[in-house]
Amino acid sequence: MKTQVGIIGAGPAGLLLGRILQAHGIDAVVVERRSRDYVLKRIRAGVLEQGTVDTLRKYGVAERLDREGLPHADMKLFWKGERHSIPMTGEGGRRMTTYGQNKIVEDLVLRREADGLPLIFDAEVKAIENVTDRPVIHYDHNGEAQTLECDFVAGCDGFWGVSRKHMPDADAHSFEKVFPFSWFGLLAEAKTSTETRGFCHSERGLAVSSSRGPDVSRLYLQVPPDFDMASMSDDQIWDELSLRLANQYGKTLNRGPIIDKAVVRLRGFICEKMVHGRLALAGDACHTVPPSGAKGLNLAVGDVRLLSEAIVSLLQENDDSKLARYPDLALQRIWPTVHWSCTMSDVFHIFPGQTAFDTRRQYEVLNFWAYDETGQRVFRENMLGRPLPQY
Ligand SMILES: Cc1cc2nc3c(=O)[nH]c(=O)nc-3n(C[C@H](O)[C@H](O)[C@H](O)COP(=O)(O)OP(=O)(O)OC[C@H]3O[C@@H](n4cnc5c(N)ncnc54)[C@H](O)[C@@H]3O)c2cc1C
Repeated sequence: MKTQVGIIGAGPAGLLLGRILQAHGIDAVVVERRSRDYVLKRIRAGVLEQGTVDTLRKYGVAERLDREGLPHADMKLFWKGERHSIPMTGEGGRRMTTYGQNKIVEDLVLRREADGLPLIFDAEVKAIENVTDRPVIHYDHNGEAQTLECDFVAGCDGFWGVSRKHMPDADAHSFEKVFPFSWFGLLAEAKTSTETRGFCHSERGLAVSSSRGPDVSRLYLQVPPDFDMASMSDDQIWDELSLRLANQYGKTLNRGPIIDKAVVRLRGFICEKMVHGRLALAGDACHTVPPSGAKGLNLAVGDVRLLSEAIVSLLQENDDSKLARYPDLALQRIWPTVHWSCTMSDVFHIFPGQTAFDTRRQYEVLNFWAYDETGQRVFRENMLGRPLPQY
């Protein structure tokens, strides 16, 4: 099989890239390791920056998002028994919107299928050959080895994917910090009360409560790095959430059946080597943020906007100057965003060996964000997200 752009991975980065290239008349094949069912049901991020919403609208995949997305007027921070609300509307009405990543992925998959464009599930890429000239993707599908010849390959295959391994000296260009805890992410059929929604610093560890729809809550608990999710019953989970988020504030958490559970290790990671020959990385394939800033999906969308422009110039005008600038431009947004997500992680979690002194310092940062005008602006601008650099 042959195509112009081989896209590895049907996450938000790969699927959106396919959609943007389609709008520019460029053919692409998306190759995805997992099954269609698995990809559509995978619960992950869900807080969208304005730039992400605008991009999905521009490429005609925001019909359901405009109907079901929940805009945020403010963000609530809890600590030491107090709750504080930070207004979240930025210049020009910029705001954050809650809409599940699984829904974005479903919208993009259904659109691609309706347009009759190639999207191959259950197809694991094993290697990419000839990266510097005319790349060939090798993948397994239905137990058979297959090849896809391309003019260009976009590695959108996430942190554990295969593409980054084809970047020469990737390790020498990579930077990583692994935090000494994980997040236990839960999806529950329970209405999110406005009184318990927010980010909570608790001496028992962080807890987060957010909404994914009128009757669906997304909740997180800080847990040890090697946490076994089978070790807690659903009642114990709700009890722990209540202890951190509700009881000391005199509130009650709405409970309901827990329909999805996952544990994710918190890490900040950036591979600055994002282009080699005719291969480029985008999204989690070249950076991972701790979910504390809700930025991973938004960064992936920003990368894809920049990368798609570079691919269009390369394939339609034989101009590789944008591709050469893609990493530097993307990193102008990636580094500060990863820094912000790590700062949120530093401030809201209890670290092993943490002293009362350390906790007081965390409170000082929270005081600054909640009570100081400059602090509020810093918090708001970082949560709303940075503008995308332009070529
Ligand atoms: C477990 C988990 C939970 C998360 N939870 C949150 C959260 O709660 N809040 C938040 O803000 N962010 C969260 N994130 C981060 C956010 O979801 C990611 O930043 C976002 O998914 C990045 O999109 P992507 O398309 O770059 O990568 P991904 O969504 O990871 O997509 C990569 C795709 O490539 C496929 N793939 C991998 N290897 C191969 C291969 N060899 N061949 C073919 N296909 C391959 C994968 O199956 C996957 O479908 C979470 C991430 C993870 C991993």
